[in-house]
Amino acid sequence: MQIQADTRRCVGAGMCALTAPDLFDQSQHDGTVVLLRAGVRGQKASDAAREAVRSCPSGALKLTD
Ligand code: SF4
Repeated sequence: MQIQADTRRCVGAGMCALTAPDLFDQSQHDGTVVLLRAGVRGQKASDAAREAVRSCPSGALKLTD
């Protein structure tokens, strides 16, 4: 599974970094999402990635197989 993050849609709410800190961080500059790892492996990381996508208020995150 791969994560895609669209920084143009991101509003810097930070839900992704709170939900899955191993996968997401936020820019020190403007708070937008910083993808730490695009590839997701394992059940725990996949569940965290799905939860982060669900909790993102701007629809900036996408998962692909
Ligand atoms: S949850 Fe969505 S809007 Fe918030 S920082 Fe992450 S990608 Fe951006």
